[in-house]
Amino acid sequence: MNDADCIFCKIAAGQIPSTKIAETERVLAFRDLHPKAPSHVLVIPKDHYANATELAASDPALAGDVLAAAAEVAVAEGIADSGWRLIANSGPDSGQDVFHVHFHVLGGKPLGPMVS
Ligand code: C5P
Repeated sequence: MNDADCIFCKIAAGQIPSTKIAETERVLAFRDLHPKAPSHVLVIPKDHYANATELAASDPALAGDVLAAAAEVAVAEGIADSGWRLIANSGPDSGQDVFHVHFHVLGGKPLGPMVS
């Protein structure tokens, strides 16, 4: 299930390069191109779902796989103990820019308040 016009589908398919951190059959973790913290990794399902609402409703097991991958990324990045943040912007009020669901794993410094 892929969208020909979706940049993260292309990254998942290897058609656009990315710095991969972890990969399974159905999940990919890669570094954000414009990091907002010393550690900033995006975790995506390879299949296309527009946002977290759609992913959780369509394939809750895959949503769990993505969450488990995010936690493994935090361990691999060395931020599991110091603390890390998981964000999935979903829909207009969130400021979501890329409409292929992705979870931001952020850490490596004190992150401050969550919502302004
Ligand atoms: O949650 P939101 O949709 O706003 O985040 C999209 C993220 O995808 C941004 O942090 C942006 O830097 C990242 N991005 C990327 N590589 C691309 C396009 C966007 O890492 N080719």
